Amino acid sequence: MTYDYDLLVIGAGSGGVRAARAASAYGAKVAIVEEYRIGGTCVIRGCVPKKLLVYGAHFAEDLVDAANFGWCIEGSRFEWSTLRDNVLAEVTRLSSIYTDTLTTHGVTILHGRAVVTGANTVRLEQQTITAHTILIATGARPEVATFPGHEHAITSNEAFHLPELPQRILIVGAGYIANEFAGVFNGLGSKVTVVNRSDQILRGYDQQIRDRLLQISLSKGIQFLFNTSIEGIEKQAGGKLAVTMTDGMTLPCEVVLIATGRVPNTDGLGLESAGVQLDPKGGVCVDGNNVSTCPSIYAVGDVTNRIQLTPIAIREGQAFADLVFGNKPGCVDYDCIPSAVFSHPPLAAVGMTESQARTKLGDVKVFIADFRPMKNVLAGRDERALYKIVIDAATDRIVGAHLIGPDAPEILQLMAVAVKAGLRKAQLDECIAIHPTMAEELVLMR
Ligand code: FAD
Ligand code: NDP
Repeated sequence: MTYDYDLLVIGAGSGGVRAARAASAYGAKVAIVEEYRIGGTCVIRGCVPKKLLVYGAHFAEDLVDAANFGWCIEGSRFEWSTLRDNVLAEVTRLSSIYTDTLTTHGVTILHGRAVVTGANTVRLEQQTITAHTILIATGARPEVATFPGHEHAITSNEAFHLPELPQRILIVGAGYIANEFAGVFNGLGSKVTVVNRSDQILRGYDQQIRDRLLQISLSKGIQFLFNTSIEGIEKQAGGKLAVTMTDGMTLPCEVVLIATGRVPNTDGLGLESAGVQLDPKGGVCVDGNNVSTCPSIYAVGDVTNRIQLTPIAIREGQAFADLVFGNKPGCVDYDCIPSAVFSHPPLAAVGMTESQARTKLGDVKVFIADFRPMKNVLAGRDERALYKIVIDAATDRIVGAHLIGPDAPEILQLMAVAVKAGLRKAQLDECIAIHPTMAEELVLMR
């Protein structure tokens, strides 16, 4: 049987774009379908605009700190519309670069919502397209519970487009998005309250690092309410919101931002027509080669409900293309994936937390540098960084690194190489420090 395409990719986000252009470079005839904007979550409403807002918010502290460095900054004021519009313009620029990349790689771009109708067929508007292989790369969307008045809440998607900065914002959830946006809105001048169902933030990160972020966030004026959830939101005259909590408390605010996780985009995708099995959250079940339960349909990225990070979606997209069109089989290695939270200050980690290492390895050594960065000292900012490395006592191998402080994600990236390479603590000790830096603490821990 002949097909319209060797490969049809559904979703032009991080995973789909990489898979499409890599498969095309291997000589495959490729089309990619996108229902919204080329670039997907990361470029349009995720990593990129988020990081730019983080930069924007950080100026608030930088301007205050500048005084002790001799700078007199009088009359500075913040204009949300300038930051928002510049960020959105940058997103548009990047989206068009992604479009050009696909085009120059010979990938056909199709616009609209795709629905799978069989093992090798996809419906797009009134058209049926056939392909030897179909790749599902449709990503995920915010999960929003259906409590009364939930329609008055926003998600991270809308946060980038707010007509004005809220005076008060209530953020539900205490994971990545909640902590990142809490830092952004607090920095920009909103009164931020974070509400979480449990008594912790950033489940999965090392306890001491999480405690440090909580302590610094509190000192910056971010309020946290634990062990509670929203019962309902009522819109009042003038557009303000009254939020009722399960513990009976009522909180007034202008914006409620829900950040309680993201669910795979498989609703109405027609995967059942091809016998593709889904997990209970709607994620496409795949094996180590990203093949679904239908042999001609593969899936990569957030839609598989594995690890929802851009570099993972890209790796999976590349591995798919290598395997299917490049004759280069190889599974993605999920061991020691570094990650970061772009909170204020940011934190980053790789490998085992102290408690995971104690459970798994038993005998571990922990080294800690708890210090006030030089810049904070002169600025009069009482904010301490915390670096922690976890060592397998039996082998001296570094099995985990956990950092919070200015530029922690930038510094952690290279520690991730050390952990991934299985370096020993003694090898860190042999390394000469670069002075004066914050990163030197990592080679000076005794
Ligand atoms: P996506 O990038 O979501 O792409 C899926 C695409 O499929 C979308 O464009 C969608 O419109 C399209 N689509 C869906 N259904 C259909 C259909 N039926 N037909 C046609 N098109 C369809 N990760 C990091 O690593 N670092 C970060 O700092 C970071 N920050 C983030 C901040 C926020 C606010 C959010 C929400 C996420 C962030 N992430 C971050 C996660 C990261 O964005 C995702 O893991 C990544 O984008 C997933 O890529 P993907 O290719 O799987 O899906
Ligand atoms: P997270 O999984 O990070 O956090 C979800 C938060 O919501 C947790 O605090 C959790 O509470 C709470 N929660 C979960 N389910 C419910 C529920 N049903 N009702 C009430 N509260 C609930 O999700 P995010 O939405 O913040 O982010 C989604 C994903 O996007 C992340 O997991 C990450 O993979 C990716 N991302 C990555 C970023 C980065 O790399 N810097 C930035 C932003 C997103 P608890 O755990 O306490 O039970």
